[in-house]
Amino acid sequence: MTSPKVNSKRGASIAAFSSELDGKIECPWCGSMDTVVRSPFGGTVSEVMMQCKACNSGFGWMKWQGIKPSSPSRN
Ligand SMILES: [Zn+2]
Repeated sequence: MTSPKVNSKRGASIAAFSSELDGKIECPWCGSMDTVVRSPFGGTVSEVMMQCKACNSGFGWMKWQGIKPSSPSRN
């Protein structure tokens, strides 16, 4: 039994964060939801670096704070 070799671990993880968080995190500066993951890790490991496409500002988002309750999650 061979385990699949994952060379692009970093790329895989940012893709995972992107698919989960892109367009779901509100920009703290302008309130836009047009945000994308810029880096899976910000200043700390519990922080994701996000980029707002509306105002072009970057901000850190804490992974543990969850998706903002303002957007009702009904999958
Ligand atoms: Zn913004």
